[in-house]
This record gives sequence, C-alpha cells and structure tokens, in this order.
Amino acid sequence: MIIIGAGGHGLSLAYHLKEKGISEVTIIESHRVGYGSSGRNASRYRYHFYNKDNVRFALDGINYLKRIKNKLKYNPFIYTTGYLWLLDERNKELFKSLDSMWKSFGIGGKFMDCSNFGFLKREGECYFAPQDGAFHHDYILYSLFEEIKDSYNILYDQVDRIQISSGKVKGVRLSSGKFIQGDVIVTAGAWSGKLLQNAGINVPIEPEKREIFITEDLKFRVKPLVIDLSSGVYFSHTLKGEIIGGIDLEYPRGFSDFSISLSSLLKFRMYVANLVKGAEGIGILRGWSGYYEMTPDHSHIMGYSENWPEGLYIDSGYSGHGMMFSPYSGKIMADLVADNRKSEFIDIFSPSRFESGKTIDEKMVI
Ligand SMILES: Cc1cc2nc3c(=O)[nH]c(=O)nc-3n(C[C@H](O)[C@H](O)[C@H](O)COP(=O)(O)OP(=O)(O)OC[C@H]3O[C@@H](n4cnc5c(N)ncnc54)[C@H](O)[C@@H]3O)c2cc1C
Repeated sequence: MIIIGAGGHGLSLAYHLKEKGISEVTIIESHRVGYGSSGRNASRYRYHFYNKDNVRFALDGINYLKRIKNKLKYNPFIYTTGYLWLLDERNKELFKSLDSMWKSFGIGGKFMDCSNFGFLKREGECYFAPQDGAFHHDYILYSLFEEIKDSYNILYDQVDRIQISSGKVKGVRLSSGKFIQGDVIVTAGAWSGKLLQNAGINVPIEPEKREIFITEDLKFRVKPLVIDLSSGVYFSHTLKGEIIGGIDLEYPRGFSDFSISLSSLLKFRMYVANLVKGAEGIGILRGWSGYYEMTPDHSHIMGYSENWPEGLYIDSGYSGHGMMFSPYSGKIMADLVADNRKSEFIDIFSPSRFESGKTIDEKMVI
C-alpha cells in the first residue's frame, strides 16, 4: 500500500495499519513530516458544527482523540477551554436553532452576557460552548511518526502521477523517476485535488491560504477560543498564555507561498487589542500561514467512489478543521483498506456525494 502525504491523516493511517500487522506500506512525502497544514494549525477541537453529520463525526472523532491520547508516546496536552462566539443581530436566530440541535446531541451551550468573561472588552450577547478545547498537534504528529518510522518505508520524494490501467491503480510515479507498485491512499491535504486531477479523477479540493499569529504572553487571561462573528477574528491561548489566532479575510483560492502579510498581522493585533483587556500594544511574536483544504460543501472526503479505479482511496479535504480528526480518520481508513470494514462515515463522506447531490453543507468554518 502507498500512502501519499505524511501529515496527520497519512501518519495516522500508517499507525493504524501497523497496529493491524500490515507490513508492506510505503509513505511518500514531497517535503517533510508536517509540511502541510498538520504542522501549521491552531490545534483546537470542537463538537460544534452546523451540519449534523459533522457533529456526529466530531462526537466520535474527539472521543477517539481523547482515548488514543494514552497510547501515544508523547502527551498531546488535550485540555478543555470552551468556544465563545460573540454574537451580533444577524446570527442570534441561527445560534438558537443550532443550540437546540446541539442539545439533542448532549452538547448544548449557554447564551450569556459577554461581560461574564472578565477578560473581554465587549458587552452584548455571547454563546459559550464549554465542551470544546485544544491539544498539541506537534506531539500527535511526532508520536505517530515515532511509532511507524522503523516499520515502514518513508520516501521523501514527490508523487507526480498515480498510474491507472484497465480500471485498476498500478502504483505511483515519483519525481525521481522511481515507480512504486501498490494500492494508493491519497492523504495529500490541499494538494489532493491537483494530484488526482493528473490521474483524470475529479475531486473538488482546493487550497485556501490562511494566516495565523502568536502574541506575547498575557499569562492565562484568555481561556476559551473566542470567535467574533462581526470581524471574523478568532483567538485563544497557548499553554504558555500567549494569544494564538487569525482572522477570516477574503483569502484567494489557489497555491501561493507560505508568507504572511503585514496588513493581516496589524489587523489581527488591532482586533485582539480592541477585544482583550490588557492586550493594548501587545507584540506579535510570530506568524505563519498554511492552507485550508476546501471542498465545495466544507466537509471532508473519505473512502472511494464506485466509479474510481480499483485500489484508489482518499482521506482529505477537511476544510480547515482536520487535525482534530486525524487519529479517528486513520482508524476508519485502516479498517477499510486492510479489513474491508466500512464505517457508516465512509458512505456519508464519500467523494460520490458531489454527483449524487447528497452534500454535507457545513457553514461553520473557523
Ligand atoms: C492556519 C490553520 C489553522 C488550523 N486550525 C485547525 C484547528 O484548530 N483544528 C483542526 O482540527 N484543524 C485545523 N486546521 C486544519 C488542519 O491543519 C488540516 O485539516 C489537517 O492538518 C490536514 O491534514 P492532512 O494530513 O490531510 O494534510 P497535510 O497536513 O496538509 O498533509 C499533506 C501532506 O502531503 C504532502 N504532499 C502533497 N502533495 C504530495 C505529492 N504529490 N507527493 C508526496 N507528498 C505530497 C504535503 O507535503 C503534506 O506534508 C488548520 C489549518 C490551518 C492552515
């Protein structure tokens, strides 16, 4: 078996295949472990999605993340912070209906006056979801890598083409000219759509650049992940007490460099200073960017399509909320490719949904 991409999803799949005793696995990574979004994210987890299927996936996925924690070599520091939405007139009704849906899953939150959160310079109505939280993505990646590195071949090379013949996947051709034979699982994040397009398969996954920043520390003033729906800014704290977050600007689709812009940095800093007591004049320590791997309905794509060549699978397109799901998706995908055991989520999140019209419309991309 060939896994394309050594991000959270590729490594988790490898980890679960190893647990099953599968021996012939090659992982191909064009740059380095965690080069994609898995090394560039904000490390937050949440149950609170707009679409019920994503809520159900999150309930199982986060439960799995919390369970696997004890098996990982390094502590991923999972901790509960809650998510706090700063509401405005346009979204109060939406949150009322979301709250009743979330309550039906046992994850209801609370409408509160924002002044209950002493660190905020904002009055008005807030919605607090106490169940959500944070973890540390690097320690998940490092743990998964450590578990598989001596069992599986990791090739640092680029897959140029997935080769298909007579309705079956034959293997992959690498930039170095090498050909590797085997079934193929695409876990190439934002690059997955482009890679499959080269093989004549249309999977709608597009990169959307996002920037993210870390400030000087404010030593534990801010705990929840704050999402200000009117400005699009979101932030929480790190375990050091720094503020980490970003801002939802009009980012163009497509590949670009992993730079950050001074104007977004200044906007982020201004919003944080305007919202958080004591953050006036705060310094930005660092910033970076990565891609959200966007699908048309903003939900991920996993499994295979009946119309695809035999031996081709995908687990990708998490549209900006995929790190938290990587342990769970790797388990589901390993059950599928190694044991032909199909979780109900394989049908729900199948790539075929874009032809059948059974899309999973997700409006809460943070
Ligand atoms: C700024 C930002 C904040 C985020 N915040 C959160 C968050 O708080 N919580 C959360 O759960 N998620 C978050 N995400 C999303 C999350 O990071 C991604 O959904 C997740 O990491 C995707 O993992 P992946 O393994 O699918 O892809 P990636 O981590 O992108 O891995 C894909 C890998 O494939 C490799 N590759 C690509 N093409 C080829 C090729 N042709 N040949 C060989 N290798 C190839 C790449 O080099 C890369 O290493 C955030 C993302 C960003 C950018």
